[in-house]
Amino acid sequence: MATDPTPRTAVITGAGSRRGIGRATAHALAAAGYHIAVLDLDKEAAEDTAREVAARYGVETLGLPADVTDADAVDAAIGAVEAALPPVGALVNNAGITSPTRFLDVTPTEWDRILDVNVRGSFLVTHRVAAGMAERGFGRIVFLSSVSAERGGGVFGGVAYSAAKAALLGFARALARELGPSGVTVNSVAPGLIDTDITQGKLDEHRRAAMIADVPVGRIGAVEDVADVIAFLARPASGYLTGVTYDVNGGSHIH
Ligand code: NAP
Repeated sequence: MATDPTPRTAVITGAGSRRGIGRATAHALAAAGYHIAVLDLDKEAAEDTAREVAARYGVETLGLPADVTDADAVDAAIGAVEAALPPVGALVNNAGITSPTRFLDVTPTEWDRILDVNVRGSFLVTHRVAAGMAERGFGRIVFLSSVSAERGGGVFGGVAYSAAKAALLGFARALARELGPSGVTVNSVAPGLIDTDITQGKLDEHRRAAMIADVPVGRIGAVEDVADVIAFLARPASGYLTGVTYDVNGGSHIH
């Protein structure tokens, strides 16, 4: 935030995962000058990201356990962030789960779980921080959607995941209209296949090779590819970008 010295905190959900997009985003936003609050299901993992980022960039950090689907837990965690760190200036709704289950095999319980974490979780955290951002006249909100939302699954996510990630696109676009006048931008990032643990080893070598063959730049994405775009959107200088979906897919889906 070289052009704007105002101290601000970025909240990143699901940023405990060691090889995940969230942790890489915590690094990228800290490098850009944000103080960092990490929310994750796993307390140790959240604290580990917070320690790692503080040690590397010298910013203030806090790692907290929170299930983003639990309104009370979200309220308590954001309350703790507000008490300990500078005002929240950015939110990255990164916590997410996927499932490849074919539609005819999806149970209502599984459907609800995928929608809950991806959509309700993003709703609860965004709802909790948005009023403060609007009052202060500054905010950068980024949703983690997916290429699955745009092309109808096909990477790893099934129908429930595609539906959830598509819901986030509509969420972000409508919220961009509401919060634009308050200085808060709202955008989505739609990654293609990124090398993380979200697929939990379910991609065999054959499928992996077939997927790479479908990517014009010839490789699976790295977490830094996504984190860089999020950091770009979180800059104070990116205030004229809102309601947009940014594809980070190596050209695997061009539309
Ligand atoms: P990941 O490594 O599995 O990270 C997801 C993180 O979210 C984990 O730390 C997980 O915690 C956390 N989480 C899950 N449920 C949560 C909940 N209820 N409350 C709080 N935290 C929760 O996955 P990733 O690949 O980095 O994915 C990050 C985001 O990018 C997700 O929204 C995903 O859908 C999206 N995305 C990923 C890809 C890809 O190819 N990797 C492509 C498109 C979109 P635990 O580990 O403790 O369960």
